[in-house]
Amino acid sequence: MSSGGHGFAGGFDGVERRGLMFVLSSPSGAGKTTLSRLLIENMPGLKMSVSATTRPIRPGEVDGRDYLFVDKARFERMVKDDELLEWATVFDNSYGTPRAPVEAALSAGQDVLFDIDWQGTQQLRHKARADVVSVFILPPSAADLEKRLHSRAQDSDEVIRNRMSRASHEMSHWAEYDYIVINHDIDAAFAEVQSILKAERLKRERRIGLVGFVRDLQGQLR
Ligand code: 5GP
Repeated sequence: MSSGGHGFAGGFDGVERRGLMFVLSSPSGAGKTTLSRLLIENMPGLKMSVSATTRPIRPGEVDGRDYLFVDKARFERMVKDDELLEWATVFDNSYGTPRAPVEAALSAGQDVLFDIDWQGTQQLRHKARADVVSVFILPPSAADLEKRLHSRAQDSDEVIRNRMSRASHEMSHWAEYDYIVINHDIDAAFAEVQSILKAERLKRERRIGLVGFVRDLQGQLR
């Protein structure tokens, strides 16, 4: 996607700006899902990107809300038809971001939140570098990560062991991200992630309405 190809977020102060793609990544169990939910609930103008996946649905998940659950054949068709903005294989399953809803949200002036892994983040950065803001969430300790994986109680012991061993690999990509948040405490981590989004929304380069705004101001001062 060309970074110039989308519309302009309203800007809560009336100054037009480019929409941004806000990416959260972390090893599973570091609190990324909770942080995403809190962001969507508390930050107006931010829309969640719902990924397609071939992994089986977990108890409590809703098709179309948490993921679009598709079979392998459907996923392969989406890849072939270029319907995915990025995609990757994680834990033997395929995950990808449907392109159309992201483009629609950005053209409607919204920011989009992605819960994707480092492979997907690299692809997004490659496609729309200036519009991607990436945050990596780290757990405070390995013991904490394990505790959180167990308390979710959604996965078997074998799956949890698998996720623990992969966490280290996932974490090795931390240095590719713009921001790093260590999730000692969910409220504090949320406040930090929220601050990042708020500050990035104010970045001069994104606020394409500033030139006109300042010109008007100067006109009034003359
Ligand atoms: P889970 O199966 O626990 O929901 O997700 C496993 C991993 O896949 C997480 O790290 C999550 O961020 C990642 N993931 C979810 N959706 C996507 C996607 O659309 N693209 C990519 N690249 N990764 C995804």
